[in-house]
Amino acid sequence: MTFFTKNFLLPSFALFMLFSFVSCKGDDKTLPSCEGVTYEYEGVDGPEHWSELCVDYTDCGGKVQSPVDITGAIDDAALSAIPRTYAASGTHIVNKGHTIQFNYDGGSTITVNGEVYELLQFHTHTHSEHTVGGVSAPMEIHFVHKNAATGKLAVIGVFVEEGAENAVLEHFVHHLPATLDAKYDAADTFNALDLMPADQDYFTYAGSLTTPPCSEIVTWIVMEHHIEATAAQIHDFEALEHENARPVQALEGRTIKHHKS
Ligand SMILES: [Zn+2]
Repeated sequence: MTFFTKNFLLPSFALFMLFSFVSCKGDDKTLPSCEGVTYEYEGVDGPEHWSELCVDYTDCGGKVQSPVDITGAIDDAALSAIPRTYAASGTHIVNKGHTIQFNYDGGSTITVNGEVYELLQFHTHTHSEHTVGGVSAPMEIHFVHKNAATGKLAVIGVFVEEGAENAVLEHFVHHLPATLDAKYDAADTFNALDLMPADQDYFTYAGSLTTPPCSEIVTWIVMEHHIEATAAQIHDFEALEHENARPVQALEGRTIKHHKS
């Protein structure tokens, strides 16, 4: 082929090397800064791509990720109900864009494996992120607790099923801030315990934040029993946060333990 003259091959080789270099950049984890980077729940910035979006999101591609499908849990007689020392809190609701978050007044704690974690906030996912035997609930509330000394988190997940009106949520649903970073504050107090099931059986496993940066620092406590809210109440959250459930992640050899009283 006379087309492939020496004069053509040389620049072609140079171009090939250039593109090889560019395509290798991702493999070498030379990702951009996360400053100003946003993530989504679908499309090119969706969950399958979070680990490639920027340098601080690489944990999203790790092997200790959440949520997971709860299946094959092992009963563990050494586990006991999680001691909860919750005080009432004023109402501090923030629209975080991808979720509605309730910041909680200081001083409420749980004790997990002998370590104390303080309740910082809770927020909602519609539909649920964890599934049980492959089945999701229409909503899941995450109660985020932090150990001040280690920086590690203990998150209690509570499934919300469609049913009776939820008296606690009814105080809030007409005040949910509708735009990003908008807030609603009120002196009205409530206790987070009233958004948890009375039965304290739970599943527990080691996992991560379910949003970037997906840090693998979370002891998950997923309550076996659900609370209820009406379809309209659940819809009020879903209308603002939209679909915000990360798909379940592979267990990668992790064990899910079950506390049954
Ligand atoms: Zn969450």
